[in-house]
Amino acid sequence: MEITNICNLDCAFCPQTGRQEAFMDLASFSQVAEQVKPFTDRILLHVMGEPLLHPDLEGILEVCREKGLEVEITTNGTLLGTAGMLLPGHPAVTRVNVSLHSMEENGDTDHYHSYIRPVAAFLEKAFMEGSPSVCLRFWNGTGERRETKVLMPGVLLQYDTPFVWPVDAEGSSTAPIRCFGLRDHLGILVDGSVVPCCLDSEGILALGNLKEQPLAGILDAVHTRKAYRDICNRKPIGELCTHCNFHRRRGSQG
Ligand code: SF4
Repeated sequence: MEITNICNLDCAFCPQTGRQEAFMDLASFSQVAEQVKPFTDRILLHVMGEPLLHPDLEGILEVCREKGLEVEITTNGTLLGTAGMLLPGHPAVTRVNVSLHSMEENGDTDHYHSYIRPVAAFLEKAFMEGSPSVCLRFWNGTGERRETKVLMPGVLLQYDTPFVWPVDAEGSSTAPIRCFGLRDHLGILVDGSVVPCCLDSEGILALGNLKEQPLAGILDAVHTRKAYRDICNRKPIGELCTHCNFHRRRGSQG
């Protein structure tokens, strides 16, 4: 669930978005969460955008707690020392992924210490509170280094190569896809668009919009069922899929 598509950084690996910038208001989030709950106990608060920028993050987490939804957040890390201090010990938040490669991807290595100190303070608080688990990501490696290490209980350090979004990927493949979209997750963009996966950053493969139809109806629609069958049969459901290599990364990271 994308609670905002607005970000405070300009990372080289980010495809940006041509969609209208927005925050999902608390009432809309609550309605969406209500519709999502029958299908899952776990949500991730991002597709594009920096979730810790949301002005009512506390309210959003409270809705998740009330509805029994576990929350995972991926952040560029810049706000962990401020808004992020809500997360340690919060009953709804189980995992935080920190994209430590963001600073380098903004060409801002001169300020690395002022970036990393609040991240360290956040880690210390999370450790003291006993939650959430934290994954520190360095997805800026060269070569084929792909490795996840346990730094300490509840803290992972993950190395990987830079991630290329399908909208930015050069070349395409006609090989059968191995896709997790619709099979184990889907995306809801900030404007209510329902997309089959977390890689559809522009809503190109949108299956419907929650402002027009409930989630259950979108998932039960003929075109969604066909997309699901195609994905199960390893067929692309749109040109975007022919540029997508996420399954290879995901396969490597488990
Ligand atoms: S193959 Fe298509 S549906 Fe699957 S993750 Fe990639 S872009 Fe999304």
